[in-house]
Amino acid sequence: MMAGVEAGRHHQALAAIVGAAGVRSPAPREYLSDGTAGRGLEGWADLVVLPGSTDEVAAVVDHCYANDLAITTRGGGTGFAGGAVPQGGIVLGTERMARVRAFDPLLWRIHVEAGLPTAELQRLVRGSGLRFPPDPGAAEQSQIGGNVATNAGGPHAFKYGTTRAWVTGIEAVIPPGEVVTAGGPLRKDVAGYDLIGLLTGSEGTLGIVTAVWLRLIPAAEAALPVAGLFPGSEAGCAAVEALMGSGVVPACIEYVDEPALAAVGRGFPGGAPGPGFLVLTEADGSAAEAVAGRDALREALDEAGATWIAAPEGDGIRALWTWRDSISPRVTAVRGGKLAEDVAVPVDRLAEALRGATEIGGRHGLEAMSWGHAGDGNIHTSYLVAPGDIGQQGRAEAACEELFDLALRLGGTVTGEHGIGLLKRSHLAQRLGPAGQRLNFAIKRAFDPKGLLNPGKG
Ligand SMILES: Cc1cc2nc3c(=O)[nH]c(=O)nc-3n(C[C@H](O)[C@H](O)[C@H](O)COP(=O)(O)OP(=O)(O)OC[C@H]3O[C@@H](n4cnc5c(N)ncnc54)[C@H](O)[C@@H]3O)c2cc1C
Repeated sequence: MMAGVEAGRHHQALAAIVGAAGVRSPAPREYLSDGTAGRGLEGWADLVVLPGSTDEVAAVVDHCYANDLAITTRGGGTGFAGGAVPQGGIVLGTERMARVRAFDPLLWRIHVEAGLPTAELQRLVRGSGLRFPPDPGAAEQSQIGGNVATNAGGPHAFKYGTTRAWVTGIEAVIPPGEVVTAGGPLRKDVAGYDLIGLLTGSEGTLGIVTAVWLRLIPAAEAALPVAGLFPGSEAGCAAVEALMGSGVVPACIEYVDEPALAAVGRGFPGGAPGPGFLVLTEADGSAAEAVAGRDALREALDEAGATWIAAPEGDGIRALWTWRDSISPRVTAVRGGKLAEDVAVPVDRLAEALRGATEIGGRHGLEAMSWGHAGDGNIHTSYLVAPGDIGQQGRAEAACEELFDLALRLGGTVTGEHGIGLLKRSHLAQRLGPAGQRLNFAIKRAFDPKGLLNPGKG
């Protein structure tokens, strides 16, 4: 932490840029942690700065770069990798930058600032019959800038792709305080390197995303889910592959394994499906297409050996997705805490990954529960811990390390959605290899030569 006099000097200078109400010191505690708070992760910072415009962000970065102050950008603070947990310097929050700069429903595009909450964006475009497909959980809290910075996915990334697929233009502030733009309200642009791609998923380590142009699509007339229950993960994973070969493009393929279903099944709309491995899929399109697709997916589940099938309609559909969104907090509630990871593997290695994740938990004397985006091979495994049980916490950390090794051995990755952040830094080299790592370092140096953007991450 910096000395009081020095902190006072920075406070004054930054308040001159963003206004007195936009600077907080000492940094309020809610700006020092994110979705990893349950793991005990808390950072430290001298000041929280809340700019209200891109020009203010540029001036703040200019001040920080001239004074060697680290900057941790913070969106909604829902991240699961500790990316927004500061390691000193300032926290730059984007919550005051939530304007819609332009919305052209007839051209299927919108220009928004980084601080707009994801759910607000989704509601706004839905009002015009459009859809922004990326649907990470915690959409009421997360912000579009955080989604872009983590290249967030969600269930429907299976059919529609992750956030990157929807960003056509980006505005960001890069050191030493310069505004850079790439792309725009155009659907194609291959001039130069893919700067949008570099900044998307860069977790605040290359620049501060201040605004984005997003591509939208007309919302499907209907989206009809089907859930099938299988005797175990082998049969369930075979069903996932059967769905992909069914001739329909499912909008999503999700799963909930047996221990997780035992914990959360009671809230399943219409009653618990019973013990087993749940596969949840959906068909969308025009009303006729969705019905035909749903029937084909139901048939595929049946042929794959489902012991029970449900196809909710009307209000039951919303209830089903509300139940799906509740899995993470309800699993946490089982023991009071969990260490959750989001490794991803090729879809044909999913059964091995799930078996291995459970075995790892067993070896460490921990309950393991998994669910997630099966069609993307993205498994969210949680090792349950009681808060304050240091022994259990340590064993769960060791179990997560083994899970990363397992995913890499299976040709997968240590993170399919949540990012590297603070938590998975030590595994990045293993995933990238020497040449990939050299390029990563070179890119970081090109954007941030002093290494002040989100230090200790990525
Ligand atoms: C219950 C729950 C369910 C979730 N489900 C999913 C899911 O299905 N799929 C998924 O992908 N994720 C999921 N997440 C993780 C999280 O919601 C997403 O990663 C989300 O997009 C993060 O957005 P945020 O605004 O909260 O970012 P933050 O947590 O504030 O920040 C995340 C990272 O992005 C950086 N950052 C934030 N804003 C900016 C910006 N404007 N410019 C540059 N860098 C920035 C931060 O420095 C940090 O490194 C879930 C989280 C929770 C709590």
